[in-house]
Amino acid sequence: MALEIDNIRNQFPQLERKVHDRPLIYLDNAASTLKHISVIEALNNHYTNDVANIHRGVHYLSEHGTIQYEQTRDSIQDLLNAESRCEIIFTKGTTDSLNLVAASFVPHYVKKDDVILISTMEHHSNIVPWQIQAEKIEAKVKEIPITDDGDIDEEAYIELLKEGNVKLVSMAHISNSLGTINDIKKYISLAHDHGAYFCVDAAQSIAHEKVDVQDLNCDFLAFSSHKMFGPTGFGVLYGKEKLLESMPPYQGGGDMIDVVTIEKTTYNELPHKFEAGTPHIAGGIGLKPAIDFLIDTDLNVIKRYEKELLDYATQKINEIEKVQVIGTAKQKASVLSFVVDGAHPHDLGTLLDRQGVAIRTGHHCTQPLMKRFNVSATARASFSLYNTKEEIDIFIKALNKALNFL
Ligand code: PMP
Repeated sequence: MALEIDNIRNQFPQLERKVHDRPLIYLDNAASTLKHISVIEALNNHYTNDVANIHRGVHYLSEHGTIQYEQTRDSIQDLLNAESRCEIIFTKGTTDSLNLVAASFVPHYVKKDDVILISTMEHHSNIVPWQIQAEKIEAKVKEIPITDDGDIDEEAYIELLKEGNVKLVSMAHISNSLGTINDIKKYISLAHDHGAYFCVDAAQSIAHEKVDVQDLNCDFLAFSSHKMFGPTGFGVLYGKEKLLESMPPYQGGGDMIDVVTIEKTTYNELPHKFEAGTPHIAGGIGLKPAIDFLIDTDLNVIKRYEKELLDYATQKINEIEKVQVIGTAKQKASVLSFVVDGAHPHDLGTLLDRQGVAIRTGHHCTQPLMKRFNVSATARASFSLYNTKEEIDIFIKALNKALNFL
């Protein structure tokens, strides 16, 4: 089956808009995706007709909202093939999910001088939460190095695991700066062989390939709704039920309790134990149609199409002299990071923007990775299922024009 691209594009209204009087060419999908029409309609309908707080009301709208919100949990359970719906914790996004694991898992499972492994290519949200918690208990955060192509250095990873005391490995499934697709199934199995748990940062994979938590056998997995055509400010943490049961709550407040007295509180069951306070109700309700869209479209088909886009763009950009692609791993998702001799990425980004082409420039919240490649920033084009080869041609033309200007 192939993607019906015109039909897909018609489902993303923002593709119609212009920027600087030019048709928008949106190539910043790794930062955030455009919103599917059904998501926009669900949000509009919620705020127009259905506003009420959920989980604790007996009136019609509260119950209606609770049902809709909880249906999203079922959809995510299906999407991830999780064993139980109580393994799906709703959060504010990937960052919040990773902070939850760090704040709850680390004090409980990691001791002084134990090790948490992260790789050089991690996003800051998969670095800083571990540092904050490790510092408190004098545990160590160590780096899994990467190769010049931007792959995990597997031998070095195994050596680090063999050194012992590794309690947790946390790694991106797909790098937001390089596009490298890490062979996490293998890395999870290696971690488990050495007695370590494994947390997957799936922020960049969830809308681009099938993620099956039982097949991967990961212990935790985090992602954000806004990178999968859904609302901003909403996200998910998957955790194995037994582990989540054993972990203390992340935050205290309404909804996460069973009985509260001034002296002591007992906690609600999973998943609510980790969901304190009124959640982003509209965000949760708005995510369901995005998941339905992903499932209907078929993640295998999406992956194939996006690979075609990436290969095409890589070939075209390599034809431009002075351009150096950063991240040349064999297994790559639809991210194309590059630098150009004598041109600052920021200037390139600005000149492309004037031509209607939205790319991202900077360190992409991956400063250790920038240091590894000896650059302060890159320009990054990232593709989604609604992009086309024609758009890539326009991007390449705009890039050539910008380079002639600089
Ligand atoms: N990890 C990766 C790999 C990402 O790309 C991002 C977003 N750029 C994050 C984590 C953080 O996601 P959020 O800002 O949605 O919490």
